[in-house]
Amino acid sequence: MLNVSKQNKSAPVPIDIARETFKQMAVRRVEPTPENYRLVYNEVASIPMTENLESSIRKALKQLPSKTTEQNNWINRWENLLKNENWAKLPALLGDGMDASVTFSKQWPDAIRGLLQGLNTKHIGLDLSTKKESLERVLINFRNDPLLAQKIQTMANGWEQYSIINNVELQSSTLIDAESLEDEVQNPSIGTPQVTIANTELAEIATEAKYDKDQFQETFRILQDMLKQSLNHGLIPRLDGYPELKEEAREIFILTEKARKLKDWQFMAKQFRALLVRVELIGANEEGMKQDLLRLLKLLIDNISELVADDEWIRGQIAVVQTIVSSPLERALILDAEKSLKEVIFKQGMLKYSLNEAKSSFKNMISTFVDRLGHMSDSSGSYQEKIENYAGKLSETEDILQINEILENLMQDTHTMQTEIVRSREVLLQQRDNVESSQAKIRKLQEELSELSEAVRVDQLTGVLNRRGLDEAMVREIARAQRGGSPLSVALLDIDNFKRLNDTYGHNVGDTALQHLAKVIQTTVRPTDIVSRLGGEEFVILLPDTDLDQAVTTVKRLQRALTKQFFLANDERLLITFSAGVALLKNDETEATVIHRADQSMYLAKRTGKNRVMTEIDLNSIVES
Ligand code: GH3
Ligand code: MG
Ligand code: MG
Repeated sequence: MLNVSKQNKSAPVPIDIARETFKQMAVRRVEPTPENYRLVYNEVASIPMTENLESSIRKALKQLPSKTTEQNNWINRWENLLKNENWAKLPALLGDGMDASVTFSKQWPDAIRGLLQGLNTKHIGLDLSTKKESLERVLINFRNDPLLAQKIQTMANGWEQYSIINNVELQSSTLIDAESLEDEVQNPSIGTPQVTIANTELAEIATEAKYDKDQFQETFRILQDMLKQSLNHGLIPRLDGYPELKEEAREIFILTEKARKLKDWQFMAKQFRALLVRVELIGANEEGMKQDLLRLLKLLIDNISELVADDEWIRGQIAVVQTIVSSPLERALILDAEKSLKEVIFKQGMLKYSLNEAKSSFKNMISTFVDRLGHMSDSSGSYQEKIENYAGKLSETEDILQINEILENLMQDTHTMQTEIVRSREVLLQQRDNVESSQAKIRKLQEELSELSEAVRVDQLTGVLNRRGLDEAMVREIARAQRGGSPLSVALLDIDNFKRLNDTYGHNVGDTALQHLAKVIQTTVRPTDIVSRLGGEEFVILLPDTDLDQAVTTVKRLQRALTKQFFLANDERLLITFSAGVALLKNDETEATVIHRADQSMYLAKRTGKNRVMTEIDLNSIVES
């Protein structure tokens, strides 16, 4: 295009510019409108682009808001005017624009007035908090909308569909006086001077009010009934130790039956609130007392377990009580423990009796033995003397008759001696049988006691739950998690290279290592977590209300705790490590599958180098890669 000016050093001739303009428009396939011609002409003639009024208006129109129909109409009218250059319509267009902005600015005072009126008026079935919620929603949804004022007004107008309450008095305990409500609607000026309702609408509203009134009466009756039942069956029976509060609660119960007027109900509500505050205070006090008692019991139990550390079977029972007092109290668990403790006490009584029996049998056996020994030594002493005597006589005599007599006496004495020995032997055998049967009784009782401990689901060696205990806890915790929709994680731990530890230091040291680990686990996890020994050197921890990440964090904390709390084997510090798998219970999952999933992750931890914690997420990422 500039070749026009290149060809002629002087200013280009307009006819050439016009020709070049047509050429350019044809080449560029530009629509042949006057506006386009002007634009290309200016470009060819190198005339700087200056905005004229029309393009400025077009530009401005593009920037105006065009959200509402009115705004769109106004912009369209401008565009038509520019297109047709119908400037005669301009005054009308400008006038309408002014009216619109005036209308817009008027909307806010009206909206605020409507809102205030709506908030100040009491409507049946629409309380202040519901109104505030609706306002909040409108403010959030339309905060940048030019129609915000209009929306607020529509919302406030909507409230007027509800019937208006004004000084409604309750005419009986269960019924609200229909006339007073209708009066209210028909004389809305009483108490609500802002609300004016056209006469033509009165009949309609009165019908609506009657409908609302029926519903309101029914709702009211149900609520009143619920309140009475809550007091009578819920609160009053729980105030047994507090006669003053019980009396107050009874008075409130009577008020709920007698209340007629709104002010009666307001008074009753005030009394009720005050009572609840006091009940809450005694609740806190009782909880404190319960905690004190629990602490006391824990102290007692811990000390008993120190004293009877050698008695395996009683340690099991104590562990049960310790588990109970360290987790949230549950009646079923307490009753279970009580039952098994009673059995233990009964068996213990029998064992004591048998031990006494065995002791006296032993005593009898020993005294018999000493007695018999005495007899034997007595008889053998005199036998010896007699033999010496007979031997002396024999050497002195030659008389066959005398010799015969001596031999006869010797035979007689030997026979007596033999009988004595046989008798002693029989008595001693009898006593030995007695002792053996007493010992057998003791053994049997001790076995029964051990079985009893087994039955209360505690591992004898470590004091944590055994497999059976875990099964029961699992059923309980899975049901609880599924009922409350709370997460339940399961961690499975297996000690690393435990066989080597056993082989190097002996089985007893291995046992002590298991006890050490169980103790560290119990002191590291939360009291509500459940620790169990699945068997061998495998432990399972149930972590209620714990998601997968939190559970992994807990198990890692346990790893760190083991690096600080060394295990001492013959004064040698040993570091026990374990590999662990953690799984989160899925919806409708059973105990077996969740433990299986934890086990698979544990196996992965073993394969990838031991002394680590793994989950299914790690398993999947390894499978994918
Ligand atoms: P890994 O790191 O792969 O788990 O190796 P590991 O040696 O720990 O595992 P393995 O299964 O080979 O050996 C487990 C050992 O645990 C074998 C068994 O003698 C020992 N064990 C099982 N129960 C007890 C127990 O009650 N007391 C003792 N002292 N040892 C036990
Ligand atoms: Mg193992
Ligand atoms: Mg192992």
